[in-house]
Amino acid sequence: MDLTFSDKEIAFRDELRGWLAENPPEAKPAADAGDDAQFTWRRDWQRRLYDAGWAAPAWPTEYGGRGASQSESAIYFEELGRARVPFAANTLGLLLGGPTLMVWGTPEQKERYLAPILSAEEIWCQGFSEPDAGSDLASLKTRAVKDGDEWVVTGQKVWTSGAQYAKWCMLVARTDSEVAKHKGLTYFLMDMEQEAVQIRPLRQITGEAEFNELFIGEARIADANVVGGVGNGWKVALTTLMNERAGLGFALQIRLRQLLDDVIAAAAENGMLENPLYADKIAEMHIRCETIRLLAWKGLTDAERYGQPGPEGSLVKWLWSDTNQRATQLAADVIGPQALTSGTSWSYELMRARGNTIEGGTTEVLKNIVAERVLGLPRLKVAA
Ligand SMILES: Cc1cc2nc3c(=O)[nH]c(=O)nc-3n(C[C@H](O)[C@H](O)[C@H](O)COP(=O)(O)OP(=O)(O)OC[C@H]3O[C@@H](n4cnc5c(N)ncnc54)[C@H](O)[C@@H]3O)c2cc1C
Repeated sequence: MDLTFSDKEIAFRDELRGWLAENPPEAKPAADAGDDAQFTWRRDWQRRLYDAGWAAPAWPTEYGGRGASQSESAIYFEELGRARVPFAANTLGLLLGGPTLMVWGTPEQKERYLAPILSAEEIWCQGFSEPDAGSDLASLKTRAVKDGDEWVVTGQKVWTSGAQYAKWCMLVARTDSEVAKHKGLTYFLMDMEQEAVQIRPLRQITGEAEFNELFIGEARIADANVVGGVGNGWKVALTTLMNERAGLGFALQIRLRQLLDDVIAAAAENGMLENPLYADKIAEMHIRCETIRLLAWKGLTDAERYGQPGPEGSLVKWLWSDTNQRATQLAADVIGPQALTSGTSWSYELMRARGNTIEGGTTEVLKNIVAERVLGLPRLKVAA
Protein backbone atom coordinates (compact mmCIF):
# COMPACT_ATOMS: atom_id res chain seq x y z
CA MET A 1 0.00 0.00 0.00
CA ASP A 2 1.51 3.32 -1.07
CA LEU A 3 -0.34 6.32 0.36
CA THR A 4 1.65 8.89 -1.64
CA PHE A 5 -0.60 10.73 -4.08
CA SER A 6 0.43 10.96 -7.74
CA ASP A 7 0.72 14.39 -9.42
CA LYS A 8 -2.66 13.77 -11.07
CA GLU A 9 -4.27 12.97 -7.72
CA ILE A 10 -2.76 16.06 -6.11
CA ALA A 11 -4.05 18.22 -8.97
CA PHE A 12 -7.51 16.64 -8.56
CA ARG A 13 -7.48 17.29 -4.80
CA ASP A 14 -6.28 20.88 -5.16
CA GLU A 15 -8.88 21.72 -7.80
CA LEU A 16 -11.68 20.36 -5.61
CA ARG A 17 -10.29 21.95 -2.44
CA GLY A 18 -10.11 25.31 -4.22
CA TRP A 19 -13.67 24.98 -5.52
CA LEU A 20 -15.03 24.03 -2.08
CA ALA A 21 -13.23 26.98 -0.48
CA GLU A 22 -14.79 29.39 -2.99
CA ASN A 23 -18.23 27.80 -3.03
CA PRO A 24 -19.33 26.97 0.51
CA PRO A 25 -22.90 25.69 0.94
CA GLU A 26 -25.64 27.98 2.25
CA ALA A 27 -25.91 28.08 6.04
CA LYS A 28 -27.48 24.94 7.50
CA PRO A 29 -31.13 25.46 8.47
CA ALA A 30 -31.78 25.61 12.22
CA ALA A 31 -32.31 22.26 13.95
CA ASP A 32 -36.01 23.06 14.45
CA ALA A 33 -36.54 24.17 10.81
CA GLY A 34 -37.88 20.69 9.96
CA ASP A 35 -37.00 17.83 7.63
CA ASP A 36 -38.18 19.60 4.45
CA ALA A 37 -35.87 22.57 5.03
CA GLN A 38 -32.93 20.22 5.60
CA PHE A 39 -33.77 18.32 2.42
CA THR A 40 -34.07 21.49 0.32
CA TRP A 41 -30.71 22.66 1.66
CA ARG A 42 -29.08 19.37 0.59
CA ARG A 43 -30.78 19.43 -2.82
CA ASP A 44 -29.60 22.97 -3.49
CA TRP A 45 -26.10 21.91 -2.52
CA GLN A 46 -26.22 18.95 -4.93
CA ARG A 47 -27.36 21.27 -7.73
CA ARG A 48 -24.35 23.50 -7.13
CA LEU A 49 -22.05 20.49 -7.18
CA TYR A 50 -23.76 19.38 -10.39
CA ASP A 51 -23.41 22.76 -12.09
CA ALA A 52 -19.68 22.70 -11.36
CA GLY A 53 -19.27 19.06 -12.48
CA TRP A 54 -18.64 17.77 -8.95
CA ALA A 55 -21.86 15.81 -8.23
CA ALA A 56 -20.37 12.38 -9.02
CA PRO A 57 -16.78 12.50 -10.26
CA ALA A 58 -16.56 8.68 -10.17
CA TRP A 59 -19.25 8.36 -12.86
CA PRO A 60 -17.86 7.86 -16.38
CA THR A 61 -17.68 11.01 -18.50
CA GLU A 62 -20.32 9.63 -20.92
CA TYR A 63 -22.85 9.78 -18.04
CA GLY A 64 -21.84 13.23 -16.82
CA GLY A 65 -19.08 12.31 -14.36
CA ARG A 66 -15.33 12.84 -14.57
CA GLY A 67 -14.24 9.20 -14.84
CA ALA A 68 -12.31 9.61 -11.57
CA SER A 69 -10.21 6.67 -10.38
CA GLN A 70 -11.03 4.89 -7.11
CA SER A 71 -8.27 6.84 -5.34
CA GLU A 72 -9.60 10.14 -6.71
CA SER A 73 -13.07 9.15 -5.59
CA ALA A 74 -11.73 8.49 -2.06
CA ILE A 75 -9.99 11.88 -2.15
CA TYR A 76 -13.30 13.44 -3.25
CA PHE A 77 -15.16 12.07 -0.22
CA GLU A 78 -12.32 12.93 2.14
CA GLU A 79 -12.34 16.52 0.90
CA LEU A 80 -16.13 16.80 1.22
CA GLY A 81 -15.81 15.50 4.77
CA ARG A 82 -12.95 17.90 5.53
CA ALA A 83 -14.95 20.87 4.18
CA ARG A 84 -17.88 19.82 6.43
CA VAL A 85 -20.38 20.17 3.59
CA PRO A 86 -23.70 18.26 3.67
CA PHE A 87 -24.27 14.98 1.86
CA ALA A 88 -25.96 15.44 -1.53
CA ALA A 89 -29.76 15.05 -1.35
CA ASN A 90 -29.70 12.20 -3.86
CA THR A 91 -26.90 10.21 -2.23
CA LEU A 92 -28.71 6.89 -2.77
CA GLY A 93 -29.17 7.64 -6.46
CA LEU A 94 -25.61 8.85 -6.93
CA LEU A 95 -23.87 6.05 -5.02
CA LEU A 96 -26.25 3.09 -5.39
CA GLY A 97 -28.87 3.53 -8.10
CA GLY A 98 -26.73 5.13 -10.82
CA PRO A 99 -23.84 2.64 -10.54
CA THR A 100 -26.33 -0.29 -10.49
CA LEU A 101 -27.96 0.96 -13.71
CA MET A 102 -24.55 1.40 -15.32
CA VAL A 103 -23.91 -2.33 -14.78
CA TRP A 104 -27.38 -3.84 -15.35
CA GLY A 105 -29.50 -1.17 -17.07
CA THR A 106 -30.61 -1.25 -20.71
CA PRO A 107 -29.37 1.61 -22.95
CA GLU A 108 -32.88 3.11 -22.69
CA GLN A 109 -32.84 2.98 -18.89
CA LYS A 110 -29.42 4.64 -18.74
CA GLU A 111 -30.56 7.33 -21.14
CA ARG A 112 -33.77 7.98 -19.22
CA TYR A 113 -32.67 7.79 -15.57
CA LEU A 114 -29.00 8.72 -15.07
CA ALA A 115 -29.06 12.46 -15.87
CA PRO A 116 -31.92 13.36 -13.45
CA ILE A 117 -30.13 11.47 -10.65
CA LEU A 118 -27.05 13.62 -11.15
CA SER A 119 -28.92 16.92 -11.22
CA ALA A 120 -31.16 15.96 -8.22
CA GLU A 121 -34.25 16.44 -10.39
CA GLU A 122 -35.38 12.93 -9.46
CA ILE A 123 -34.57 11.56 -6.02
CA TRP A 124 -34.12 7.82 -5.47
CA CYS A 125 -34.79 5.58 -2.48
CA GLN A 126 -33.95 1.97 -1.68
CA GLY A 127 -36.86 -0.43 -1.04
CA PHE A 128 -35.06 -3.53 0.15
CA SER A 129 -35.80 -4.07 3.89
CA GLU A 130 -39.16 -5.44 5.05
CA PRO A 131 -40.62 -6.09 8.50
CA ASP A 132 -39.45 -9.74 8.30
CA ALA A 133 -36.51 -9.33 5.94
CA GLY A 134 -33.57 -7.12 6.89
CA SER A 135 -30.31 -8.98 7.34
CA ASP A 136 -31.87 -11.96 5.57
CA LEU A 137 -32.94 -9.95 2.54
CA ALA A 138 -33.63 -13.01 0.36
CA SER A 139 -36.62 -13.95 2.51
CA LEU A 140 -38.55 -10.82 1.46
CA LYS A 141 -42.27 -11.25 0.75
CA THR A 142 -43.34 -8.25 -1.39
CA ARG A 143 -44.85 -9.87 -4.50
CA ALA A 144 -44.87 -8.76 -8.13
CA VAL A 145 -47.22 -10.46 -10.60
CA LYS A 146 -47.10 -9.93 -14.37
CA ASP A 147 -50.20 -8.35 -15.94
CA GLY A 148 -49.75 -7.69 -19.66
CA ASP A 149 -46.79 -5.38 -20.08
CA GLU A 150 -46.95 -4.30 -16.44
CA TRP A 151 -46.21 -5.79 -13.02
CA VAL A 152 -48.61 -5.49 -10.08
CA VAL A 153 -46.79 -5.14 -6.76
CA THR A 154 -48.20 -5.76 -3.29
CA GLY A 155 -46.34 -5.75 0.03
CA GLN A 156 -44.64 -3.67 2.67
CA LYS A 157 -41.18 -2.13 2.96
CA VAL A 158 -39.61 -0.48 5.98
CA TRP A 159 -36.70 1.86 6.88
CA THR A 160 -36.97 3.41 3.40
CA SER A 161 -34.72 6.47 3.76
CA GLY A 162 -35.84 9.56 1.88
CA ALA A 163 -38.98 7.86 0.45
CA GLN A 164 -41.01 11.02 1.12
CA TYR A 165 -38.86 12.92 -1.40
CA ALA A 166 -38.25 10.11 -3.88
CA LYS A 167 -39.56 9.79 -7.42
CA TRP A 168 -38.03 6.32 -7.97
CA CYS A 169 -37.58 3.34 -5.67
CA MET A 170 -35.02 0.55 -6.19
CA LEU A 171 -37.47 -2.19 -5.31
CA VAL A 172 -36.70 -5.87 -4.90
CA ALA A 173 -39.79 -8.10 -5.06
CA ARG A 174 -40.60 -11.81 -5.30
CA THR A 175 -41.69 -12.81 -8.79
CA ASP A 176 -41.42 -16.60 -8.34
CA SER A 177 -42.14 -18.43 -5.09
CA GLU A 178 -41.58 -21.92 -6.56
CA VAL A 179 -37.79 -21.65 -6.83
CA ALA A 180 -35.02 -21.24 -4.20
CA LYS A 181 -35.57 -17.94 -2.38
CA HIS A 182 -32.56 -16.13 -3.92
CA LYS A 183 -33.66 -17.12 -7.41
CA GLY A 184 -37.23 -15.87 -7.27
CA LEU A 185 -36.43 -12.16 -6.93
CA THR A 186 -36.60 -9.32 -9.48
CA TYR A 187 -35.25 -5.77 -9.25
CA PHE A 188 -37.61 -2.97 -10.35
CA LEU A 189 -37.66 0.79 -10.60
CA MET A 190 -40.98 1.75 -9.03
CA ASP A 191 -42.57 5.16 -9.57
CA MET A 192 -43.31 6.48 -6.07
CA GLU A 193 -45.87 8.97 -7.37
CA GLN A 194 -48.92 6.67 -7.46
CA GLU A 195 -51.89 6.21 -5.12
CA ALA A 196 -51.01 2.57 -4.52
CA VAL A 197 -47.79 3.58 -2.72
CA GLN A 198 -48.48 4.98 0.73
CA ILE A 199 -45.58 6.46 2.72
CA ARG A 200 -45.71 6.67 6.49
CA PRO A 201 -42.79 8.44 8.21
CA LEU A 202 -40.96 6.77 11.11
CA ARG A 203 -39.65 9.36 13.54
CA GLN A 204 -36.23 8.65 15.01
CA ILE A 205 -34.71 9.46 18.40
CA THR A 206 -33.12 12.55 16.75
CA GLY A 207 -36.60 13.93 15.97
CA GLU A 208 -36.08 13.50 12.20
CA ALA A 209 -38.17 11.21 10.03
CA GLU A 210 -35.24 10.11 7.89
CA PHE A 211 -36.89 6.84 6.97
CA ASN A 212 -40.40 5.52 6.34
CA GLU A 213 -42.72 2.57 6.02
CA LEU A 214 -44.03 1.88 2.51
CA PHE A 215 -47.40 0.22 2.05
CA ILE A 216 -47.71 -1.02 -1.50
CA GLY A 217 -51.20 -2.06 -2.59
CA GLU A 218 -51.25 -3.19 -6.24
CA ALA A 219 -48.77 -0.61 -7.47
CA ARG A 220 -48.05 -0.71 -11.20
CA ILE A 221 -44.57 -0.98 -12.71
CA ALA A 222 -43.97 -1.08 -16.47
CA ASP A 223 -42.11 -4.17 -17.67
CA ALA A 224 -39.53 -1.79 -19.15
CA ASN A 225 -38.58 -0.92 -15.54
CA VAL A 226 -37.24 -4.39 -14.70
CA VAL A 227 -33.51 -4.01 -14.11
CA GLY A 228 -31.19 -6.90 -15.06
CA GLY A 229 -33.89 -9.38 -16.10
CA VAL A 230 -36.71 -11.25 -14.36
CA GLY A 231 -35.44 -13.62 -11.65
CA ASN A 232 -32.03 -11.93 -11.52
CA GLY A 233 -32.89 -9.54 -8.66
CA TRP A 234 -30.50 -11.06 -6.12
CA LYS A 235 -27.46 -10.38 -8.30
CA VAL A 236 -28.62 -6.86 -9.16
CA ALA A 237 -29.31 -6.16 -5.46
CA LEU A 238 -25.78 -7.34 -4.59
CA THR A 239 -24.40 -4.76 -7.03
CA THR A 240 -26.38 -2.07 -5.18
CA LEU A 241 -25.19 -3.34 -1.78
CA MET A 242 -21.54 -3.52 -2.92
CA ASN A 243 -21.75 0.16 -3.82
CA GLU A 244 -23.31 1.07 -0.48
CA ARG A 245 -20.71 2.95 1.51
CA ALA A 246 -18.02 2.53 -1.15
CA GLY A 247 -16.57 6.02 -1.03
CA LEU A 248 -18.99 7.36 1.58
CA GLY A 249 -16.87 5.55 4.17
CA PHE A 250 -14.05 8.00 3.45
CA ALA A 251 -16.26 10.98 4.26
CA LEU A 252 -17.51 9.25 7.42
CA GLN A 253 -14.05 8.50 8.77
CA ILE A 254 -13.01 12.15 8.23
CA ARG A 255 -16.13 13.29 10.09
CA LEU A 256 -15.23 10.96 12.93
CA ARG A 257 -11.74 12.49 13.00
CA GLN A 258 -13.24 16.00 13.11
CA LEU A 259 -15.55 15.03 15.94
CA LEU A 260 -12.59 13.67 17.88
CA ASP A 261 -10.54 16.83 17.17
CA ASP A 262 -13.45 18.93 18.51
CA VAL A 263 -13.58 16.73 21.62
CA ILE A 264 -9.80 17.10 22.13
CA ALA A 265 -10.10 20.90 21.78
CA ALA A 266 -12.94 20.97 24.32
CA ALA A 267 -11.00 18.66 26.70
CA ALA A 268 -7.94 20.94 26.43
CA GLU A 269 -10.10 23.98 27.21
CA ASN A 270 -11.64 22.25 30.23
CA GLY A 271 -8.24 21.14 31.52
CA MET A 272 -9.34 17.52 31.10
CA LEU A 273 -6.28 16.45 29.11
CA GLU A 274 -4.36 16.42 32.40
CA ASN A 275 -6.80 13.82 33.73
CA PRO A 276 -5.26 10.38 32.95
CA LEU A 277 -8.69 8.81 32.59
CA TYR A 278 -9.67 11.17 29.75
CA ALA A 279 -6.18 11.26 28.25
CA ASP A 280 -6.32 7.48 28.02
CA LYS A 281 -9.74 7.44 26.38
CA ILE A 282 -8.72 10.12 23.87
CA ALA A 283 -5.52 8.23 23.00
CA GLU A 284 -7.56 5.08 22.37
CA MET A 285 -9.94 7.02 20.10
CA HIS A 286 -7.01 8.49 18.19
CA ILE A 287 -5.55 5.00 17.58
CA ARG A 288 -8.94 3.72 16.45
CA CYS A 289 -9.37 6.65 14.01
CA GLU A 290 -5.96 6.04 12.48
CA THR A 291 -6.64 2.28 12.21
CA ILE A 292 -9.92 2.94 10.40
CA ARG A 293 -8.30 5.44 8.02
CA LEU A 294 -5.50 3.04 7.11
CA LEU A 295 -7.86 0.06 6.76
CA ALA A 296 -10.11 2.13 4.45
CA TRP A 297 -7.15 2.97 2.21
CA LYS A 298 -5.95 -0.65 2.28
CA GLY A 299 -9.43 -1.74 1.19
CA LEU A 300 -9.23 0.70 -1.70
CA THR A 301 -5.82 -0.63 -2.75
CA ASP A 302 -7.25 -4.18 -2.75
CA ALA A 303 -10.29 -3.04 -4.76
CA GLU A 304 -8.00 -1.44 -7.36
CA ARG A 305 -5.81 -4.55 -7.50
CA TYR A 306 -8.57 -7.20 -7.63
CA GLY A 307 -11.27 -5.16 -9.38
CA GLN A 308 -13.85 -5.35 -6.56
CA PRO A 309 -14.12 -4.49 -2.88
CA GLY A 310 -13.23 -7.38 -0.57
CA PRO A 311 -14.96 -8.59 2.62
CA GLU A 312 -12.49 -6.49 4.67
CA GLY A 313 -14.82 -3.51 4.01
CA SER A 314 -17.09 -5.07 6.64
CA LEU A 315 -14.33 -4.60 9.20
CA VAL A 316 -14.09 -0.87 8.42
CA LYS A 317 -17.88 -0.41 8.75
CA TRP A 318 -17.94 -2.38 12.04
CA LEU A 319 -15.01 -0.41 13.53
CA TRP A 320 -16.30 2.95 12.30
CA SER A 321 -19.81 2.49 13.75
CA ASP A 322 -18.48 1.21 17.08
CA THR A 323 -15.90 4.03 17.32
CA ASN A 324 -18.40 6.72 16.30
CA GLN A 325 -20.73 5.61 19.08
CA ARG A 326 -17.85 5.66 21.61
CA ALA A 327 -16.63 9.07 20.37
CA THR A 328 -20.07 10.67 20.68
CA GLN A 329 -20.40 9.21 24.19
CA LEU A 330 -16.93 10.53 25.10
CA ALA A 331 -17.98 13.93 23.72
CA ALA A 332 -20.96 13.92 26.08
CA ASP A 333 -18.64 13.13 29.02
CA VAL A 334 -16.22 15.91 28.05
CA ILE A 335 -18.73 18.60 27.04
CA GLY A 336 -21.17 17.93 29.87
CA PRO A 337 -24.86 18.95 29.95
CA GLN A 338 -24.69 20.95 26.71
CA ALA A 339 -24.07 17.70 24.84
CA LEU A 340 -27.32 16.34 26.21
CA THR A 341 -29.34 19.46 25.41
CA SER A 342 -31.78 19.07 22.56
CA GLY A 343 -30.93 21.11 19.45
CA THR A 344 -27.13 21.02 19.86
CA SER A 345 -24.98 19.27 17.28
CA TRP A 346 -23.41 17.23 20.11
CA SER A 347 -26.76 15.77 21.19
CA TYR A 348 -27.70 15.16 17.56
CA GLU A 349 -24.47 13.22 16.91
CA LEU A 350 -24.90 11.21 20.12
CA MET A 351 -28.42 10.12 19.20
CA ARG A 352 -27.87 9.64 15.45
CA ALA A 353 -24.89 7.36 16.15
CA ARG A 354 -27.21 4.74 17.70
CA GLY A 355 -28.33 3.70 14.20
CA ASN A 356 -24.79 3.32 12.89
CA THR A 357 -24.50 -0.28 14.08
CA ILE A 358 -27.74 -1.21 12.24
CA GLU A 359 -27.80 0.72 8.93
CA GLY A 360 -25.92 -0.72 5.96
CA GLY A 361 -25.50 -4.12 7.69
CA THR A 362 -25.69 -4.79 11.45
CA THR A 363 -22.52 -5.26 13.46
CA GLU A 364 -23.44 -8.89 14.23
CA VAL A 365 -23.79 -9.69 10.53
CA LEU A 366 -20.54 -7.86 9.71
CA LYS A 367 -18.76 -9.87 12.41
CA ASN A 368 -20.02 -13.07 10.77
CA ILE A 369 -18.59 -11.90 7.43
CA VAL A 370 -15.21 -11.04 8.98
CA ALA A 371 -15.12 -14.37 10.86
CA GLU A 372 -16.02 -16.52 7.88
CA ARG A 373 -14.61 -14.68 4.89
CA VAL A 374 -11.59 -12.80 6.27
CA LEU A 375 -10.45 -15.13 9.07
CA GLY A 376 -11.72 -18.35 7.42
CA LEU A 377 -13.47 -19.59 10.58
CA PRO A 378 -16.12 -22.31 10.17
CA ARG A 379 -19.71 -21.23 9.46
CA LEU A 380 -22.00 -21.16 12.47
CA LYS A 381 -24.55 -23.98 12.28
CA VAL A 382 -27.75 -22.84 13.98
CA ALA A 383 -29.29 -25.64 16.06
CA ALA A 384 -32.70 -26.83 14.85
C1 LIG B 1 -30.67 4.88 9.64
C2 LIG B 1 -31.11 3.68 8.82
C3 LIG B 1 -31.41 3.84 7.49
C4 LIG B 1 -31.83 2.74 6.72
N1 LIG B 1 -32.17 2.95 5.40
C5 LIG B 1 -32.63 1.91 4.67
C6 LIG B 1 -33.06 2.12 3.31
O1 LIG B 1 -33.05 3.24 2.79
N2 LIG B 1 -33.55 1.06 2.63
C7 LIG B 1 -33.61 -0.20 3.16
O2 LIG B 1 -34.02 -1.11 2.46
N3 LIG B 1 -33.21 -0.44 4.43
C8 LIG B 1 -32.73 0.59 5.21
N4 LIG B 1 -32.35 0.38 6.52
C9 LIG B 1 -32.55 -0.95 7.09
C10 LIG B 1 -31.29 -1.72 7.42
O3 LIG B 1 -30.63 -2.13 6.26
C11 LIG B 1 -31.75 -2.90 8.30
O4 LIG B 1 -32.22 -2.35 9.51
C12 LIG B 1 -30.65 -3.87 8.57
O5 LIG B 1 -30.29 -4.55 7.41
C13 LIG B 1 -31.06 -4.89 9.63
O6 LIG B 1 -32.29 -5.49 9.32
P1 LIG B 1 -33.47 -5.55 10.39
O7 LIG B 1 -33.68 -4.20 10.97
O8 LIG B 1 -34.62 -6.24 9.75
O9 LIG B 1 -32.92 -6.48 11.58
P2 LIG B 1 -32.84 -8.06 11.59
O10 LIG B 1 -32.16 -8.53 10.35
O11 LIG B 1 -34.17 -8.63 11.91
O12 LIG B 1 -31.86 -8.29 12.81
C14 LIG B 1 -32.32 -8.24 14.18
C15 LIG B 1 -31.13 -8.55 15.07
O13 LIG B 1 -30.66 -9.89 14.79
C16 LIG B 1 -29.28 -9.87 14.44
N5 LIG B 1 -29.01 -10.86 13.38
C17 LIG B 1 -29.70 -11.01 12.23
N6 LIG B 1 -29.15 -12.03 11.50
C18 LIG B 1 -28.10 -12.48 12.19
C19 LIG B 1 -27.12 -13.50 11.97
N7 LIG B 1 -27.13 -14.26 10.85
N8 LIG B 1 -26.15 -13.69 12.92
C20 LIG B 1 -26.12 -12.94 14.06
N9 LIG B 1 -27.04 -11.96 14.33
C21 LIG B 1 -28.00 -11.74 13.42
C22 LIG B 1 -29.02 -8.46 13.92
O14 LIG B 1 -27.66 -8.10 14.06
C23 LIG B 1 -29.93 -7.61 14.81
O15 LIG B 1 -29.30 -7.34 16.03
C24 LIG B 1 -31.93 1.46 7.31
C25 LIG B 1 -31.62 1.30 8.68
C26 LIG B 1 -31.23 2.39 9.43
C27 LIG B 1 -30.92 2.18 10.90
